[in-house]
Amino acid sequence: MATHKIAVLPGDGIGQEVVPEALKVLGVVAKESGVTFEFEEGLVGGAAIDATGDPLPDASLELCYSSDAILFGAVGGPRWDDAPHERRPERGLLRLRKELDLFANLRPARCFPMLVDASPLKRSVVEATDLMVIRELTGGLYFGEPRGVEKMADGSARAVNTMVYTSREIERVARVAFDVARKRRRRLTSVDKSNVLVVSQLWREVVTAVSRDYADVQLEHMLVDNCAMALVARPTQFDTIVTENTFGDILSDEAAILAGSMGMLPSASLGGKTALYEPVHGTAPDIAGKGIANPIAAILSAAMLLRHSLSMAPDADKIEAAVLRVLEKGYRTADIRQEGTTLLGTVQMADLIARELGALYS
Ligand code: NAD
Repeated sequence: MATHKIAVLPGDGIGQEVVPEALKVLGVVAKESGVTFEFEEGLVGGAAIDATGDPLPDASLELCYSSDAILFGAVGGPRWDDAPHERRPERGLLRLRKELDLFANLRPARCFPMLVDASPLKRSVVEATDLMVIRELTGGLYFGEPRGVEKMADGSARAVNTMVYTSREIERVARVAFDVARKRRRRLTSVDKSNVLVVSQLWREVVTAVSRDYADVQLEHMLVDNCAMALVARPTQFDTIVTENTFGDILSDEAAILAGSMGMLPSASLGGKTALYEPVHGTAPDIAGKGIANPIAAILSAAMLLRHSLSMAPDADKIEAAVLRVLEKGYRTADIRQEGTTLLGTVQMADLIARELGALYS
């Protein structure tokens, strides 16, 4: 039977509480399916700064390179807020993305039927929402050169960022998006601002060219301002969305509210040999250490890991079904609590999901 090496980087705050719960669920998958997971833990973020002075020590990077996939928690917290730029916890995650060439960020946003009322949007709008935002992660405005601030002769200042994409960068993320859409409902919306930006005109041209290799996927183009409105007005019209870095940053956060809570949202970052899976949420310093964080985002991230890195889609489906069953039975963590439901802590919620998962295999 196969052995898969998984790098485990819990990071800081509730990352250290939810990641062990995701491992518990993967433990059930191992027991029931016969595969072996080798979990090896590494330091990242504030925890790594405290231990080594570096937010991504060489040992952690080596561990990631030599693993089949990475399960990541979250990094950061008030303790390190005043640290110099290069020694801030988030530098660890940014460097990891860069080193591993993780150029495609996948964020599903699904409104679970029993959580419809947890969303600030009307039931009639969010019900049955099930979409995936794919954001280009390593190019565009956030990385383009030139960038910087210069002082002008008259004492004023001028600042520059550059939005830049090569056709290769667009093509590779487009291919990931078409492949993902193919495994979903075969509809892809490419989002750009081609009425104003030349970068977007190239984006549209390249995505259209790639679409010729995916005749079974229906492609539409949409302007980003229109997409921002449609996401909260008619989210069910979307299946898979692909867009550049900055637009994706904003649209994926907007899509997050459709799911009701940050504690429900998993993500995957794909690209090079090793992909990284992490809950969308941060370290939640306001609830860290209290044992009340929702472990579902981390557990669903583990399901994405099985689906995208280990070709274990049936097991990923089972984890998602187990989460649904526990929610259907009325169990909730504090962030998704509703009247008439039973309140659970982090460990209890994961225990119930693990138990349901075991039952789904038998
Ligand atoms: P956050 O996601 O940590 O928290 C936002 C709110 O959502 C808080 O009220 C928190 O209690 C709640 N929340 C988040 N996850 C939850 C869960 N699983 N269960 C229940 N409630 C949950 O965002 P923030 O407060 O803006 O950031 C806190 C720290 O996390 C900062 O240092 C930030 O830089 C860092 N951060 C890290 C990442 C990452 O590592 N990828 C992402 C976002 C923020």
